[in-house]
Amino acid sequence: MSYIYRVFLDEFAQAPPLRNSLDAGHPYRVPSVNCPSCGIWGAGEFVYPSVDVSSFDADTRRKIVKIGDSGRCQAIAVDAFAAYAAKLEMVLGSNRPIEPGTCFGPLSGDGSGDYYDFMWTTNAVVVKEHVFRRLCHEGFELLGVTAEIDRPDAPHELLIELEAPPLARYASNLSVKRCGVCGRNLSKRLPLCDLAISAGSFNEEIPLQRVRDWPPYLVVSQELGNAIKDYEFSGVSMHPVELSS
Ligand SMILES: [Zn+2]
Repeated sequence: MSYIYRVFLDEFAQAPPLRNSLDAGHPYRVPSVNCPSCGIWGAGEFVYPSVDVSSFDADTRRKIVKIGDSGRCQAIAVDAFAAYAAKLEMVLGSNRPIEPGTCFGPLSGDGSGDYYDFMWTTNAVVVKEHVFRRLCHEGFELLGVTAEIDRPDAPHELLIELEAPPLARYASNLSVKRCGVCGRNLSKRLPLCDLAISAGSFNEEIPLQRVRDWPPYLVVSQELGNAIKDYEFSGVSMHPVELSS
């Protein structure tokens, strides 16, 4: 059986346990969608910290929501959203699909305490700079963006957010229930023991990917997983996931 790994934080597996906080988010996001069938949604589960919104044309930029700017319209109709997403995907390329609430720009916020080598927020994974450099030195093509974290207990090592394109798909025997109008994923969380990834969807040259059919799940290639194990980085646990048809 060929396999990759799901990566996640298992705090109970960390020794020693560390006290820390990381309260951070991304500065920009695309609007939510207002679907007549399933309602308003824009989960912000697809995240592209390397995307610089100032590179968009003025018309595209006008619809981008700046976090904290509550005066902006944040939900648009299904057809308008589909056209907007298609325009963005033309600019950003096929490895960056757009869903309502997709986030752009470097992670920023506040932090404190002692950090693990890998740190996690609800939609981002960051690593200490030395971890990023070591994995890049090993030949892994990781896309990293420096996180802008204010810490009162400076000095501290820089944190690098890893961009994880949502390209890995469920294996063909796993079903995904979607809204017939807007395409929203209406599936329930899949029991982990059932998770399998379609081998055809997993491009080994992109060693860290988000699972498009369940974006909170992140997976890494077998080689990257083995390197993470060999270096005994803290703050990350791994579980093998079958690659199948
Ligand atoms: Zn819908």
